[in-house]
Amino acid sequence: MSSSPERDFVLDHLDDLHADLEAWVRIPSISADPAHAPDVAASAEWLAEALRRTGFPTVEIWPTPGAPAVFAEWPSSDPDAPVALVYGHHDVQPVDPPELWVHPPFEPTRVDGPDGPELHGRGASDDKGVLIVHLLGLRAHLAATDRDTPGVTVKLLIEGEEESGSPHFAALLQERRDRLDCDVVVVSDTGMAAPDVPSAVTAMRGLADAEITLRGPKVDLHSGSFGGAVPNPCMRWPSCWPSCTTSRAGSRCPGSTTRCARCPIASARS
Ligand SMILES: [Zn+2]
Repeated sequence: MSSSPERDFVLDHLDDLHADLEAWVRIPSISADPAHAPDVAASAEWLAEALRRTGFPTVEIWPTPGAPAVFAEWPSSDPDAPVALVYGHHDVQPVDPPELWVHPPFEPTRVDGPDGPELHGRGASDDKGVLIVHLLGLRAHLAATDRDTPGVTVKLLIEGEEESGSPHFAALLQERRDRLDCDVVVVSDTGMAAPDVPSAVTAMRGLADAEITLRGPKVDLHSGSFGGAVPNPCMRWPSCWPSCTTSRAGSRCPGSTTRCARCPIASARS
C-alpha cells in the first residue's frame, strides 16, 4: 500500500489508538441491561473526554429518556466547506453466555489472528473500534495538512442505544435537528472487506419484523361440506405473504379475502 503523510502519522501513533480503544472497551456499556445504565453513561463520558482531548471545540452529552448520546462538532475554517456528520454508537451487545468467551469480554486481549494481531473484547470492532479510528484519523489529517481545523466541518452523533433498538433516537433527531444540518451522513458502524482493503460501504439493508395474526372461521367447518370452498388461513398464507411484501397497503391478496391493510411492510412501502 502506498505511503502518505496521513498514513505515516497513523502508523507512528498506533499506540495512542490502542490505548484509547482498550480503555473504552473496558467499560461494559450494555444498553439492553438496565443494570449497566451507569456504564453506558460512563462510556458517553469517556468518549466526550476523548473528543475534547482530540481537539473538538464543541462536545456535548445529549441525554435521552434512555441512554445518552454524544454530539461533537469541529467547524472547518472554510465557510464553504461541506459538513459531514458521522453516526455511530457507543453501547455494546450483551455478553451472555459469559462462559463461552475465551477471554473476558471487558478485558481487551491481543491475540494473533490469521491476518495479524487482533484485539478481542466486546465492542472492540462494533462499534468502538470503528469510531476510535476517527480520532486518530482527524489528528493525522490536521498534522499532514498543517491545518488547525479540518478540511470539512465534522459533526459526530454517537448514540447509546443502537444495540437495543434505538428506541429514543428518532425523537432525539427531531429534537436536535437544528444542530444536525449536514451535506452527508457517514454511517460509521460498518466493516471492511479485508484488513488491508480500505472500504467504503455505500448501501445497507434494514430490518423488518411483523407480528402476523391469521383469522379463519370461528368454528370448525366440516371438510366434506366446506373444504375447498372456504379458504383456510394456513393454506392461503404462503401465497399471500409474497404479495403482502410487494402490494400497497389496503390491497387484496390474490384469491383471498385478506387485505394487506395492516401489513407493516406494505404500509412502509406505500
Ligand atoms: Zn454496530
